Amino acid sequence: MGHWIGGAPVVDGGSRDAPVHDPATGRVTGRVALASAAVVDGAVAAARAAFPAWRATSVSRRVEILFAFHQLLVEHRDEIAAVVSAEHGKVLSDAAGEVARALECVEFACGIGQLLKGGYSEQASAGVDVHEVRQALGVVACITPFNFPAMVPLWMIPNAIACGNTVVLKPSERDPSASLVVARLLQEARLPDGVVNVVQGDRVAVERLLEHPDVEAVSFVGSTPVARHVYESATRHGKRVQALGGAKNHMVVLPDADVDVAADAAVSAAYGSAGERCMAVSVLVAVGGVADPLVEAIRERVVRLVVGPGDDPASQMGPLITAEHRDRVAARVGTAADEGATLVVDGRVVPEGAAGGSGGFFLHPTLVDHVRPEHTVYREEIFGPVLSVVRADTYEEAVGLVNDNPYGNGAAIFTRDGGAARAFEVDARAGMIGVNVPIPVPVGYYSFGGWKSSLFGDLHVYGPESVQFYTRTKVVTTRWPDPATSAVDLGFPRTR
Ligand code: NAD
Repeated sequence: MGHWIGGAPVVDGGSRDAPVHDPATGRVTGRVALASAAVVDGAVAAARAAFPAWRATSVSRRVEILFAFHQLLVEHRDEIAAVVSAEHGKVLSDAAGEVARALECVEFACGIGQLLKGGYSEQASAGVDVHEVRQALGVVACITPFNFPAMVPLWMIPNAIACGNTVVLKPSERDPSASLVVARLLQEARLPDGVVNVVQGDRVAVERLLEHPDVEAVSFVGSTPVARHVYESATRHGKRVQALGGAKNHMVVLPDADVDVAADAAVSAAYGSAGERCMAVSVLVAVGGVADPLVEAIRERVVRLVVGPGDDPASQMGPLITAEHRDRVAARVGTAADEGATLVVDGRVVPEGAAGGSGGFFLHPTLVDHVRPEHTVYREEIFGPVLSVVRADTYEEAVGLVNDNPYGNGAAIFTRDGGAARAFEVDARAGMIGVNVPIPVPVGYYSFGGWKSSLFGDLHVYGPESVQFYTRTKVVTTRWPDPATSAVDLGFPRTR
């Protein structure tokens, strides 16, 4: 897999590449080029060259291209889902869901005419009017993680280009192909060459983008240590940055909650996509007497989950992204037991006849009870099919766990008590809250982002905040004076 620069595939003649795997079999299915700084420079130059004409392209024409792109995404959604599943491992229905959520972001960008409107104040002073315009920044770098290889680039690209910017996307080297399908479809939608470019690569490409003088802004999604580094480095180089990091999402279940509803939600949110979602529920906080029946209801569901290749319609959960990651997650399960937690279901034990012996990167769902905040499995983002249950005596204790956690992406509460739900909404220190919704990913016309170590920067990704991120405002003060009344006045201009 190569790059896409200036509207054409670029085969990298460089010396560095990396294997791409089918996580369901463990087999190497291709090799992805790892861009050098020179290749990155070429992509940024293409984006910079495309910027003046793209910025000057009418809003209507940009929107027409986005509508065409939307249609192409709809027509090619199965192809994209298959590409995602083949390299990421998630099951096809889950990959199709990723494309569906990406479509929302394109739909939002199609309304950019409304969103770019500035304000106008007539007669701000006598005969003086003031208006505000939003202008594109220039070249924007988008750096994305492995876990949503189609959706996360499409959290960024539609709004970035709708606002008149040009883009260099650096997708994850683990599953690089979806980005190339997106680039091809954008071209089919008549996006001018160079407006969106893709460089495949690793940290070498990222470092060059962070320091490149022609990159104006960086949108990053990935793990917290890298997000922090991206934020610090790119801001040091004078860029505007939004860097979304990792998560440890808590789902609080109050004693009055419906146990079956809560169990269904917890299992769906913890094990979907093998837990490799930044909005996955990884901690369940069971309050009071709900703990025992809830853990049992979750256990019953977990042991019935079907784990297998993503392209098998019977599979509910696929493999993890790499063998190393699978082994790391499995090691954390072992540590949890060593530190005193209870393994209710141990996913390292492959059930009879189940997938896992095929050479793929499988780990079966794991349920850990009696986890305490000092346990490693609680402190770290595991990013695998592991649900930790922490028992709390009171609502206050539960919300304290949410608020003391260094991450603050999503948090959910399950209850039938509206007052308690409202208190949680007010109290919880996280950017996205679910009330009886375990994965509260905002719809495309709101914005997505966490608090604390889940976001470096201030503006969230997609939705209205991304229009702010991808534009800078300019305020214009206008007067059409009557020459007859014109005079020299050295005083500071007054409005009264
Ligand atoms: P990652 O941080 O390893 O990689 C993200 C991107 O950064 C990739 O493009 C990668 O090539 C690059 N990168 C990796 N190491 C780097 C380094 N040392 N220097 C510079 N660049 C580097 O993340 P991942 O493993 O691909 O994705 C999983 C992580 O992403 C999880 O922590 C998950 O919570 C997080 N995530 C967060 C959100 C969110 O919205 N907050 C969404 C999806 C994923």
